Amino acid sequence: MANFWKPGTERPRLVDDEEGGVLFHYSSSSAYSSGFGYGSIEKQRKRLPIYKYRDAILYLVETHSTTIIVGETGSGKTTQIPQYLKEAGWADGGRVIACTQPRRLAVQSVASRVAEEMGVKFGEEVGYTIRFEDITTEGITRIKFLTDGVLIREMMDDPLLTKYSVIMVDEAHERSISTDIILGLLKKIQQRRPDLHLIISSATIEAKSIAAFFETRRRRPGLEGEELGPKPVPAILSVEGRGFNVEINYVEEAVLDYLRAAVSTVLSILDQESIGDILVFLTGQDDIDATIQLLNEEAYDNGRKSSDLLVLPLYSGLSRAEQDLVFSPTPRGKRKVVMSTNIAETSLTLEGIVYVVDCGFSKQQFYDPISDIESLVVAPISKASARQRAGRAGRLQPGKCYRLYTEEYYTNEMSAVGIPEIQRSNLVSCVIQLKALGIDNILGFDWLASPSPEAMIRALEVLYSLGVLDDDAKLTSPIGFQVAEIPLDPMLSKMILASGQLGCSEEIVTIAAVLSIQSIWISVRGARKELDEAKLRFAAAEGDHVTFLNVYKAFLLSGKSSKWCHKNYVNYHAMKKVIEIREQLKRIMQRLGIGLKSCEWDMQVVRKAIIAGFFANACRLEAYSHDGKYKTVRSSKDVYIHPSSILFRVNPKWVVYHALVSTDRQYMRNVISIDPSWLVEAAPHFYISQAPDFKLAR
Ligand code: ADP
Ligand code: MG
Repeated sequence: MANFWKPGTERPRLVDDEEGGVLFHYSSSSAYSSGFGYGSIEKQRKRLPIYKYRDAILYLVETHSTTIIVGETGSGKTTQIPQYLKEAGWADGGRVIACTQPRRLAVQSVASRVAEEMGVKFGEEVGYTIRFEDITTEGITRIKFLTDGVLIREMMDDPLLTKYSVIMVDEAHERSISTDIILGLLKKIQQRRPDLHLIISSATIEAKSIAAFFETRRRRPGLEGEELGPKPVPAILSVEGRGFNVEINYVEEAVLDYLRAAVSTVLSILDQESIGDILVFLTGQDDIDATIQLLNEEAYDNGRKSSDLLVLPLYSGLSRAEQDLVFSPTPRGKRKVVMSTNIAETSLTLEGIVYVVDCGFSKQQFYDPISDIESLVVAPISKASARQRAGRAGRLQPGKCYRLYTEEYYTNEMSAVGIPEIQRSNLVSCVIQLKALGIDNILGFDWLASPSPEAMIRALEVLYSLGVLDDDAKLTSPIGFQVAEIPLDPMLSKMILASGQLGCSEEIVTIAAVLSIQSIWISVRGARKELDEAKLRFAAAEGDHVTFLNVYKAFLLSGKSSKWCHKNYVNYHAMKKVIEIREQLKRIMQRLGIGLKSCEWDMQVVRKAIIAGFFANACRLEAYSHDGKYKTVRSSKDVYIHPSSILFRVNPKWVVYHALVSTDRQYMRNVISIDPSWLVEAAPHFYISQAPDFKLAR
């Protein structure tokens, strides 16, 4: 092992908190059990820190329009508050209690936990809704977990969200784009519906700015000083956690390869510390899969029995069974190592974690409105995130956190807090949703943090060129309303609409479903060659989208066989998801009057439908490029075909991509070759007005 700290040899430090508070308190009452696996569920619930505040919470919710609750991760906010509300009668008379989460996986996991605690059948009294998955029963479900994005969608049918008595916006500190939008919308709704009570819960003091946001609400005239109805000024309640001291360790010198550093750190913890599970924060599925493989190999080389170790991934898109494994108690005699994205930072609680390894990065969306390039970037986390990650180690007993970056880096280079997603995202989806809700003056919307005018203008431009907005920036009819109705990125929605006219909706709906999930391939470190060979069996000269059609067709021919998937490096779970999403999209299309028609493998038509949505993502190969450099037509930025693409090294002259990812370069993921004349055909206004020098050089 390189020059790492030696676990356990450094002086323990409290995690400092710039705002002057102490985030992790040492608790003297160590008599708490984990609240897991001991005693009845009722007892477990009463042991949670939030239980002491039950009456206070119910009182505040009753007497205030908005209540802000700050409490450390694991204190019981998400699983307990909806139950308290239900017990106090907030779900009587057919009303529903809603609790939003920014992440789909968190929605599923907490909903199933709450159903279990209440001893009710999942999907009846307690249910959840995420995009493409509705596990609720109309008229029966009393507590409903949902993503903040789904709640915005529900407003399209029911603008005042009338069925809800209380809406709890959870994980507000994450400042996801949908959370920011929903807070602005809810503030508006409250003015029309004083009977709607809000709870905003957060793991950090970020809550202060949210309180100020709700405080600026104008009081209704005539009610000044009167004790009628709930108070408009938000209440803030802070739930004292019971986190233990977490010792922070830093690397002495910056690490070059955090995957290897993570693995050797885990191995040294396993060697030197006898008990406790380990949680490793990495950036994404690819990172996690690679690290798991590496750890298993190295552990084996170090003479560890693989049966002693339970190494598990945690990221969105896991199957139910895989999720359950992560949350089940560690079997006796085993050590559990969970490799997670930042989903375990605050939205999920894992029991038994004593050691945290923090790589210092996460995948973040960044958007440059000038070049109109949006990409997913592995970027440094903030100090606030680093503190949250460390805190995961101190839930049950004093823990240790190993940061794979230097102390100097933490102190001097890491920013204090992250940038809200709304300020680093493409706003196309956001704008269309607000337009569909009748909010026309989007810059004048009551934002918690204003998006940049440049990004807003870009979004309006893109929507205009898609034919979704008219000259007055109003939704067009029917296209604009139809695009807004389909719960996909507007470019995908437009592609689907176009496929109806072009007569290839059968094919396009499959492509849209595949593009809606992370990946249909199984990635195994060290088996790159095998995967590439498997892909070649389905390869289509046109590119990735058509290759997906080949995979889908072969999967159906195999009788949807999991064995077939395994043999071909296709992710069975992902394919089942594709079929599910496809069914849902078909239903939505039916509602919109788009018939299902097949073009009988006329791939020119299919590509034209793709272009109808994605013409803005066209790129041209540089004339003398030896390394496959492309320029975006829109802004002349250098981009390359991603190595995972079927067109990698094929380098057709003209391509359209689905998304960009950034590592050392900007890579195009999911690429299709096109004829440039189709671009002008699909979007003449766009190509003539945006890029006047656009020439159809072949
Ligand atoms: P918070 O929202 O404040 O972070 P939660 O309500 O999510 O806290 O969790 C409270 C406690 O409930 C956790 O500390 C854990 O003991 C238990 N818990 C939550 N989810 C699960 C689960 N899926 N399986 C087992 N226990 C869970
Ligand atoms: Mg929570």
